[in-house]
Amino acid sequence: MCGIFGYIGPKNAPEVILEGLKRLEYRGYDSWGIAVVADQINLNKKVGAIGDLDEVNSLPKSNTGIGHTRWATHGGISELNAHPHFSTDKSFALAQNGIVENYQELKSVLLKKGYKFKTETDTEVIVRLIEDKLKETNNLKEAVRLAFLKLLGRNTVILLTKDGQIMALRNGSPLVVGINNKEIFFSSDTLSFAPHIRDVLVVENGQMVYWNSKLHLIDIKLNKTLPLNSEKINFKTSKVDKEGYDHFMLKEIHESPYIINQVVTRDYAYYESFVDEIKKAKDVYTIGSGTAGIAASQIAFYLRVFGKIRAESVIGADIYEYYELLTKDDLMIAPSQSGETADVLEVLEIARKKGVKIASYVNMPGSTMSRISDFKFLSHAGPEICVMSTKVFTSQIAWGYLLAKQVQGKALEGESNLRELAYTADKYLNTGENHEIVKKLAKLLAKHKDIFLLGKYQNFNIVREGMVKIIEGSYIHAHGIPAGDLKHYAITLMEKGVPVVVAVSEDVAKDDVINAVSQVKARGATVIGISPTALPGFDFHIPVPDTGETSAIMNIIPLQLLAYYMAVELNHNVDKPRNIAKSVTVK
Ligand code: GLU
Repeated sequence: MCGIFGYIGPKNAPEVILEGLKRLEYRGYDSWGIAVVADQINLNKKVGAIGDLDEVNSLPKSNTGIGHTRWATHGGISELNAHPHFSTDKSFALAQNGIVENYQELKSVLLKKGYKFKTETDTEVIVRLIEDKLKETNNLKEAVRLAFLKLLGRNTVILLTKDGQIMALRNGSPLVVGINNKEIFFSSDTLSFAPHIRDVLVVENGQMVYWNSKLHLIDIKLNKTLPLNSEKINFKTSKVDKEGYDHFMLKEIHESPYIINQVVTRDYAYYESFVDEIKKAKDVYTIGSGTAGIAASQIAFYLRVFGKIRAESVIGADIYEYYELLTKDDLMIAPSQSGETADVLEVLEIARKKGVKIASYVNMPGSTMSRISDFKFLSHAGPEICVMSTKVFTSQIAWGYLLAKQVQGKALEGESNLRELAYTADKYLNTGENHEIVKKLAKLLAKHKDIFLLGKYQNFNIVREGMVKIIEGSYIHAHGIPAGDLKHYAITLMEKGVPVVVAVSEDVAKDDVINAVSQVKARGATVIGISPTALPGFDFHIPVPDTGETSAIMNIIPLQLLAYYMAVELNHNVDKPRNIAKSVTVK
């Protein structure tokens, strides 16, 4: 969600920043802006999507500048409210990620002092506050530092001065600095400058980094200089390209088999010590938000089924009642694409203070979540650009499956099952007929206002994730129900023609699900079944290969395709559905 970018170096800053912002696009935004220094600060701000290089034609050639993608939280989506924001005398421009939670208090004090506001953003409060502190201190760096200390909430700020300094301060949203001997990049993630750089300085909460012909890192509160410890980040892939597919979503679904094989390629010994920790833990929690929350739930499922571990999943945004229960003997496992999800990070920070051990499975290298984890795992799924997560979800649940198999003492069997799954899924995805079947049903479903999905046991979270994908991509109401619970309430909604999608595997729950299907059929529902063989009651069948223990992971693929083809059918912006952002770094 929203991004910041800064560049200092020999290349043309407007172009480098535009490219950087494009690589941050996946995080979600509604407007954007770039500020560069020539003899003064020049600004270009726009509402909507970032176009091609023409977008920066109006900016002069420059070696220094900052950029921002905004996901509006305070103030409407407009050019005026887009960042960066100028100071009154245009001596600096500032962009922010996050929310200034006390902006109203700060604003009323500043209004009383006579400061004028042009926008409705909380960001402008930071600008005026810096101006106010500048009057006191006569030193911009000090004014920025003191102003930042007054802000409540999770915020990251970047500031450009007209003499070419860049300052960036972090207390929440991510901030990384890429360094080589000629250039410096400031950004919300490492992916945005991956083609240029391998040495990365991860700025921690409470730190400020600034450039005035040299890079400095300071502790904001103590005003103390800190050592610049950069680390090498190894990007297995940094390509951001549709590679011939119509959308990133389709390309990313197609990458799933490769991603599953990545899960199998791992440091076995490191996992052994983690498995010991799982076995030793008093309570094991899995945690995530949105799709990662569903992955967390499936990981807990696998830990219960194969690991015989009493694992429980929680969602990042709703966990208050657990805080009192957490102890130092517990373990929390967090799957995350970005490793920066604000509500999950808040929980992990609280849990960590209570001594809970933290493990994370993150896709973005150099993330906060990895840094605060006792056990750090990376999914190496490569950039996921479509806002709707597909391959990363698949990676997370495949990882959970393998982890649970290792707890069970059957890691090798788990590995070979996943390899088999990768092979089978690849064949499935590369068979045109499978797409045709799903596409035809997507056309049919796209006409409906309500869609129901049924699943049980290993497939319950899978249909829930199918529900999420349909809601995200087609803006159609979908409802994932535990098949057995149907008769307790949702059965009232079953009538002629209501579409019900059901996922069934060859497992203990199969007969119960068939039973639920017959109950909805009896009321006239139209049933679309995802299963290895057509079962009684199906009006339409999406055949999938039977992959045994991993069949739930196989079943997510046709559901993702279904959501994809529905979004295409409805002419929606597939890779950037309305209102949602990929990396939700605000609460
Ligand atoms: N709260 C700020 C605004 O609404 C920043 C939002 C963002 O992080 O993009 O402008």
